[in-house]
Amino acid sequence: MPLIAILPGDGIGPEVCREAQRVLEAVAPGLAFEEAAVGGAGYDAAGHPLPPATLDLAKRSDAILFGAVGDARYDRLDRALRPEQAILGLRKELGLFANLRPAKLFAGLEDASALRPEIARTIDLVIVRELTGDVYFGAKGRRTTEDGRREGHDVMAYAEDEVARIARVAFATAQGRNGRLCSIDKANVLETSQLWRDVVIEVAAEFPEVELSHMYVDNAAMQLVRDPGQFDVIVTGNLFGDILSDQASMCAGSIGMLPSAAIGSGTQGLYEPIHGSAPDIAGQGKANPLAAILSGAMLLRHSLGDEAGAARIEAAVARVIAGGARTPDLGGTMTTATMGDVVLKALA
Ligand code: ATP
Ligand code: MG
Repeated sequence: MPLIAILPGDGIGPEVCREAQRVLEAVAPGLAFEEAAVGGAGYDAAGHPLPPATLDLAKRSDAILFGAVGDARYDRLDRALRPEQAILGLRKELGLFANLRPAKLFAGLEDASALRPEIARTIDLVIVRELTGDVYFGAKGRRTTEDGRREGHDVMAYAEDEVARIARVAFATAQGRNGRLCSIDKANVLETSQLWRDVVIEVAAEFPEVELSHMYVDNAAMQLVRDPGQFDVIVTGNLFGDILSDQASMCAGSIGMLPSAAIGSGTQGLYEPIHGSAPDIAGQGKANPLAAILSGAMLLRHSLGDEAGAARIEAAVARVIAGGARTPDLGGTMTTATMGDVVLKALA
């Protein structure tokens, strides 16, 4: 029986995870669930944002459903004890190097997009962002030169195996969708990007049925708002992916609607809504649980190979949105639990 680790975390994390778990239980009855504290809740329970028992559960599990972490109450702690360290620790310990972020506008939510409705309707893409390299993890430093000027540097670096493994995830993702992959870099300026492009082209030989294109990141930022419908799957490095995935999410609508996955070379993965712990609305039943519910769909698809179950959840969400179900972030008054109820009903 597949084991799903439920790590609800802080703020609205537990509220949205509860609804996602109910939906998973309804769609895939053969799953076992085990819950553990993480983030600020982990610190409160065991003195660490990623307590050993939580990490152990995560390692034993087939997939992780993660809520959100973070709360201003923990801002005064040492960096290593802050809630956000939990997610970095989990990615590292589980070898989750690829972040998958689908951006799709559900019919009826055109007003939530930052784009004009006729353009917003065409968005249906997945950004595959590399998570373990790039300027975030290269050498960093600050110094003052002899003539008193302050300098700072962050080294952008990628090794070929790091590029090859993220490229394989992206090609496989494109293979499971519409067969088009666009690799985004800045190869006209950056050595890192030239290596990136060379390696992506080499890996392309393993996926002859996927159509590969390349785009510079500045052009990609423009194309994402001008004509997002041209993209199927995008693969890019950690820095460009960070920026482009937030941009794409605003094109696709409310932060409460968008799921994500962190995966590695196996089938295990960590699934979470892109939104944070939203302390401003926690405990009030105002949180939109659809991003968490859609993260559950990604979990079924990527970690359990249950494409039919994933599609059933996505269709139910599309149905309730088309039927006018709206939490406050979408301009309505529905509560978190009621939104969960209507999705459950729409599954039937
Ligand atoms: P983090 O640093 O953890 O990403 P953040 O500061 O980016 O957090 P969020 O916690 O994502 O912020 O919240 C940003 C805003 O969006 C808040 O006003 C919050 O109430 C709202 N929000 C976030 N998630 C949801 C949701 N599921 N439903 C409704 N509103 C949400
Ligand atoms: Mg955020």
